[in-house]
Amino acid sequence: MRSAQELWEAALGEIQLQVNKPNYRTWFRETKGISFKNNQLVISVPNIFIAEYFDTNQRSLIEKTLIGLTTRNISVRFQVNSVQPVSLTGCTSRETSATTTSPRFNPRYTFDSFIVGSSNRLAHASALGVAQNPGQSYNPLFIYGGAGLGKTHLLQAIGHIAQARGLAVLYVSGEQFTNEYVNAIQGQKTNDFRHKYRSLDMLLIDDIHFISGKEHTVESFFYTFNTLHTAGHQIVIASNRPPKSIPLLEDSLRSRFEWGLTAAIGLPDLETRLEILQAKAKQAGATILPDVLALIARQAKRNVRELEGGLNRVMAYARLLGTEATLDLASYALKDIASKEAEDNHSTPTIIITTVAENFQRTSEDLLSRKEDKETTLARQVAMYLLKQQNGCSLADVGIALGGRSPRVVSYACRKVALSLNMKKPTGDDKSVDIEACRLVKRKVRQIQKTINLRLQGKVFR
Ligand code: ADP
Ligand code: MG
Repeated sequence: MRSAQELWEAALGEIQLQVNKPNYRTWFRETKGISFKNNQLVISVPNIFIAEYFDTNQRSLIEKTLIGLTTRNISVRFQVNSVQPVSLTGCTSRETSATTTSPRFNPRYTFDSFIVGSSNRLAHASALGVAQNPGQSYNPLFIYGGAGLGKTHLLQAIGHIAQARGLAVLYVSGEQFTNEYVNAIQGQKTNDFRHKYRSLDMLLIDDIHFISGKEHTVESFFYTFNTLHTAGHQIVIASNRPPKSIPLLEDSLRSRFEWGLTAAIGLPDLETRLEILQAKAKQAGATILPDVLALIARQAKRNVRELEGGLNRVMAYARLLGTEATLDLASYALKDIASKEAEDNHSTPTIIITTVAENFQRTSEDLLSRKEDKETTLARQVAMYLLKQQNGCSLADVGIALGGRSPRVVSYACRKVALSLNMKKPTGDDKSVDIEACRLVKRKVRQIQKTINLRLQGKVFR
């Protein structure tokens, strides 16, 4: 059997023929095959951004190439090369910032390039707040939301400002923190580890949910948190779910996460998606027809990463064919996104949300939006109830599915709808209960449940 590096070099030979030279140089040149076991090839990459880029954009090309070479069903994993910690973590300190020129934070992730809409307004404003007044406004700031919605972008944007002000700031993911801690224990370097983290002015920790269940890492993070917080140093945390819903975390740490401000990022609405696309196209120096941008914005709606991917694809296809990005070309380039969406359209949560929306004569986007009129709010509450009851989603997941609402809001909605369903007749003198309204909700929920069940069995679609 070939070694990991030999196998990877053979694959790189093939890949070089398939991607253009600048792309190859940017992304592939500094990669290595480091282990090959159980049909999994681990590829070392120089930094977290390249790992993310590979994960979202190149995984299928790489796996296809490896399968072609070996006729085995190979999967790949991207591992950030720990020998180059400088590019791995964005760390600066007063002593070192002047002596180094390597980019500490991703230059693309700044406040200037972040488009604000109703789905991310609070997260953006609070991130800007802590960047301008670290340790003074909200500490910690806890940002949560689904994948690809801009959490890392905001953390890095804070990092840029802190760095420019000469603060000792470190950006690290939960996974890197864990690895560093484990390495420190193994190498008997826990003093260095402690010193590194506890001497910071600002800690930006991404994807904190990764440490859940890792008892010693959690404990070590707990002490790091306390030291920094007591000293009034800023901590910013990002996670895919709110503190309450991170499993296997000590309550003491969970409650500390809530000491400051918790801000959710939800799915961007159509208008924001369009604005993001316009900004990204401008950044890339491309002129794209408004209709084409609108098509991408309509199709790529699950997160901003998908939106960027859609735009990049359309631009790449146009370049490849040497033509303008027309609507036809764009719909061809976006067909993968469209088919993923069709798959999504048949998922239970989507069926629940669309059925509720239709029944209330609203759109799914209304339910995910910030609209607060009585009817839309009621529809959203019914959708929350059904997602929880019928689909067994957690409060946090329901909140995320409905545009980034907090578990508290979801819990209130579920109780309110359940109350309407259980209401038989007015209880005593309680005039505050509108029995007619309860009956109406009950009728609607029954009807909706019936349609959902039929749709789930594939009997009725529209
Ligand atoms: P997350 O960390 O939440 O998974 P990222 O911060 O990595 O998401 O964002 C994914 C991509 O989308 C990045 O390229 C980021 O720049 C972009 N992005 C996300 N939100 C916005 C926004 N509001 N404006 C501009 N770009 C955004
Ligand atoms: Mg991220």
